Amino acid sequence: MTGSALDLLIIGAGPGGYVAAIRAAQLGLRTAVVDEHPAAGGVCLRVGCIPSKALLESSQRLVAARGELAAHGGVAGEIGLDLQAMMKRKDRVVTTLTRGVSSLLKRNGIDRIQGRARVDGIDGELRTVVVAAGDAEQTLQARNVIVATGSRPASLPGIELDGDGIGTSTEALAYAEVPERLVVIGAGYIGLELSAVWNRLGSRVVVLEYLDRILPGADAEIAAAAAKIFARQGLDIRLGCRVLGAAVKDGKEAAGCVVEVEGQDPIECDRVLVAVGRTPISDGPGLEEAGVTVDEYGFIQVDERFATSAPGVFAIGDVIGGPQLAHKAEEEGMACVEGIAGGYVHIDYDAIPGIVYTEPEVASVGRTEEQLREAGTPYRKGTFPFRAIGRARATGSLEGFVKILAHADTDAVLGVHILGNHAGDLIAEAVAAISFGASAEDLFRTSHAHPTLAEAIKEAALAVHDRAIHM
Ligand code: NAD
Repeated sequence: MTGSALDLLIIGAGPGGYVAAIRAAQLGLRTAVVDEHPAAGGVCLRVGCIPSKALLESSQRLVAARGELAAHGGVAGEIGLDLQAMMKRKDRVVTTLTRGVSSLLKRNGIDRIQGRARVDGIDGELRTVVVAAGDAEQTLQARNVIVATGSRPASLPGIELDGDGIGTSTEALAYAEVPERLVVIGAGYIGLELSAVWNRLGSRVVVLEYLDRILPGADAEIAAAAAKIFARQGLDIRLGCRVLGAAVKDGKEAAGCVVEVEGQDPIECDRVLVAVGRTPISDGPGLEEAGVTVDEYGFIQVDERFATSAPGVFAIGDVIGGPQLAHKAEEEGMACVEGIAGGYVHIDYDAIPGIVYTEPEVASVGRTEEQLREAGTPYRKGTFPFRAIGRARATGSLEGFVKILAHADTDAVLGVHILGNHAGDLIAEAVAAISFGASAEDLFRTSHAHPTLAEAIKEAALAVHDRAIHM
């Protein structure tokens, strides 16, 4: 039996799982990936990162065509909206990419098995995994198993998700019509990105956030500046709102929905998007029975090699906690597999960027100012606004700024936070800087092409030393 066993079976074909599978194949491990969904790529590709970015792009182009184009000398008639065409384009983007992942798996000789996996026993060297698809079951054996099952949208007590009027990001990526009034619960990543999409497409969007700020976890100064811009764009962001419940009115879809907020009048709307975080998927695949320790929130507990408490069973990505980001899962997938193959396992969690793809984008890496203050770390701060950058003037995207936090004694870059057009791409330089232990001086002594938005990073690094040039 051992002879026919796989070296590695991965449960979940999302960014964590499929990247781990490819790395395993590169290292010569006989690998298979199980996923219950026919399309590879997980939530990220099917109903997450990719379709949301497609809609953000399309909706932003519509806004630009209706507004900015005239200032650039473009003359167009009335610009209408064909929502179906926009959705079809999004679906094509998703299909192309999920097919691309399937063919990558195939090219690397990785078996893809469709069905629900359940760890069904650990016997010495071998783990038995049963995969159920409809009435059929197949039993596989593997020396190692990686659980990469990801997460699902969380909800709140008092809210019954009906998969339609009251839904999650999955529904909000595919509304058949533009809701006249949309209530979004949660001003985090998903809430803000999808609010941006529907606001641009014409919805009146109310965002209800429990905390007294948006984007918990982001640098507070950046988040406050972003909130002002989003409000100017038309989002009605209400902070400090405790949502008690949401229901379809009179039990009838056409009648719309009503959202109950503590101490306030109920809010009537056409649709509700619940975006209050995501819950790990650790309850399906027989993990606790197999001896895998799961914490009170459902996160699988792992050690520094991503090993769970069950021998030969590893876990990566959203299901183990930490930032629920596709690229974090990818890093963990590769590192975990390298460990299984006998190599080193190392991830610098201080150098994992986070990006909110609104317009302007919000991107950050490393420590926030609040974290440094709380830890008592001495720091110097340099900020620089995009409006003083030539390229930003030329493109017309003047909003936002770069903020660099460096250690007051060593000058090491500890955190970089960017609010601005293309912040998500600009942050890559800061990620590399933090990964390589660069100082603010290293950053400003690096040549930055002119005219580019990246000059704002150089200037912010100069500002850490009170010597910005263009300010
Ligand atoms: P989130 O954690 O980013 O934000 C949830 C928000 O809901 C928080 O601001 C929280 O304070 C608020 N909230 C919680 N309970 C509430 C209540 N009762 N009433 C009102 N507000 C409440 O979660 P999300 O936006 O659902 O996204 C889930 C995960 O998906 C995130 O952790 C993120 O990492 C990931 N994601 C990433 C991207 C990206 O990388 N661009 C995009 C989408 C999602």
